[in-house]
Amino acid sequence: MIEALDLHKEYRLGAVTVPALRGVSLSAQEGDFIAIMGPSGSGKSTFMNLLGCLDRPTSGAYRIHGQEVSALSDDRLAEIRNSLIGFVFQTFNLLPRMDALHNVEIPLLYAGTRRRRERARRALEAVGLGDRLHHRPSEMSGGEQQRVAMARALVNDPSLILADEPTGNLDTRTGEEIVGVLQELNRQGKTVILVTHEREIAQHTHRIVSFRDGVTVSDETVPDPIDARERLAALPAPSC
Ligand code: ADP
Repeated sequence: MIEALDLHKEYRLGAVTVPALRGVSLSAQEGDFIAIMGPSGSGKSTFMNLLGCLDRPTSGAYRIHGQEVSALSDDRLAEIRNSLIGFVFQTFNLLPRMDALHNVEIPLLYAGTRRRRERARRALEAVGLGDRLHHRPSEMSGGEQQRVAMARALVNDPSLILADEPTGNLDTRTGEEIVGVLQELNRQGKTVILVTHEREIAQHTHRIVSFRDGVTVSDETVPDPIDARERLAALPAPSC
């Protein structure tokens, strides 16, 4: 479903050129679950931006569902993003004045979809938040806010989910719950690519790709991925 070939990305800062990616190739099949790891500044976010059609490479090829992305117009890129890709970020990026339902409806507004309320409600139920539909972000825990962000990523039924450090701001148990939701989505057939600094989190996926200095330095299969349901059952119960 994804084929990235020899991607290069340079940022220009005045007279200086920063090489963020220096020839990255990666293929992913439908239904893959991949973790991207690497130190800060190694090019992970730049790579995710290219995968998510948020930016174009300086050179190299990128195909998603067989379609070459590098040469497409901004409008066509936006169409691909809206129809095929769901994004989850470390900082949730929810609109503070809107309740959960309205936050999840936003991508449907852009897509001009009908029956938005009903679809947003189903997406929230799918991430276990059927009882929080009218809560605003400030009335929810970090884990609940991340679930709302996941429902928003899912509401257009994308085939690819890109999650950039989704557990970065969460405690261990909540992080485990969030990676558990990603695991469940992957079981249902979604392709999931996840950036994380935590080896433990990466070991819930099927494959770990490591970046350093703008290139990939390893690509390992995870022989026996951690099952979040089992891990959660073994963790101490939450205190409240
Ligand atoms: P990571 O996600 O692994 O921390 P990034 O992809 O954010 O790495 O950054 C890779 C390199 O590109 C770093 O040297 C960073 O400073 C540089 N970089 C990232 N974004 C920009 C930008 N918009 N303008 C200039 N340099 C950038």
